[in-house]
Amino acid sequence: MTTPLTPEVLVPRLGEYLVSSGTITDEDLKKALAYQQEQQAAGKQCYLGEALLELGLVNRRQLDHAVTKQIIQLRNALEDANRFLERRVQERTAELQEALRKLSELSQLKANFVANISHELRTPLTHVKGYLELLVTGALGELNDEQRNALQVSQRSAGQLENLIDSLILFSQAARGEMTLHLTPVNLSKVAGDVIRYSRIKANNRNVTLEYEIPADLPLVQADEEKISWAILQLLDNAIKFTPAGGRVALVVQLESDNLIMVAVRDTGIGIPADKLEAIFEPFFQVDGSSTRRYGGTGLGLALVREIISAHGSIIEINSTEGKGSEFRFPLLASKIVM
Ligand code: ADP
Repeated sequence: MTTPLTPEVLVPRLGEYLVSSGTITDEDLKKALAYQQEQQAAGKQCYLGEALLELGLVNRRQLDHAVTKQIIQLRNALEDANRFLERRVQERTAELQEALRKLSELSQLKANFVANISHELRTPLTHVKGYLELLVTGALGELNDEQRNALQVSQRSAGQLENLIDSLILFSQAARGEMTLHLTPVNLSKVAGDVIRYSRIKANNRNVTLEYEIPADLPLVQADEEKISWAILQLLDNAIKFTPAGGRVALVVQLESDNLIMVAVRDTGIGIPADKLEAIFEPFFQVDGSSTRRYGGTGLGLALVREIISAHGSIIEINSTEGKGSEFRFPLLASKIVM
């Protein structure tokens, strides 16, 4: 156990010092302390040094000498304490650095594991999807309606699984700082149109009206088409998921200025509490993280959307009011080529 650095440990008190240096006796000290107490009881401020002087137990020179000695001791003690603290700080810093190294090693292992397992899952899923497609199109024999319906449900589930695996692969790439963009001139009108077509079934199934505003003559943007599509789709998926039946979701793409295109996804859904607006972008965070939660999902979507948008040199903004709805929006820089 280390001794706490109290002033008494740093510097012995004046009385004890004078006794130990042989300037006064124990008796002298007791007398002076008693005198000091009397003075204080009479309402007078009296230091031990003054009491000793007034009782003639030390002279001024002896007192000055003792005080100077004490100041030197105090300075030495402070220097020792500083050195001690510096050593402690160095030790703790080294411990923290070691902990950090272990943590990033673990996080690297986790990212590798997620990447490997995701790739392993993808191969069999590709086979499942391929055969489902052959079955559904009747290439392997005629089907009745019931069989076709069952296969279509299986196809949708396989699609969801594929989506989840893609998110995991993207997540492990981002966690390893390996998210690379394949930039090409991208036509956002086409991308947004495709995403709307893809989301239409989901919105219909949930009885949510899907609206859009997509000008046909937008300038091209330099972007990774697959990743930007994925990000917009993810925002639309969330908007549909968190909007109760009867509500509205809109994808709006607008030319804000000569070279800025704003992409916005709006919904009239449940909204997000103000104190959670930052946290929803953290991996795995969900506003309702309970085991009884009503909405499915992994909590990875928005974290990846933010990674993708920021890899494009942009930033995602959010406006939301609980019970009223949310808007997620991000700008993209137009290139000079016009369609
Ligand atoms: P997931 O949707 O898989 O749970 P996300 O990372 O996409 O994960 O979103 C994190 C959380 O943010 C969601 O669980 C939800 O609580 C909240 N959220 C995201 N989008 C919306 C939205 N449009 N309306 C309300 N809440 C949302």
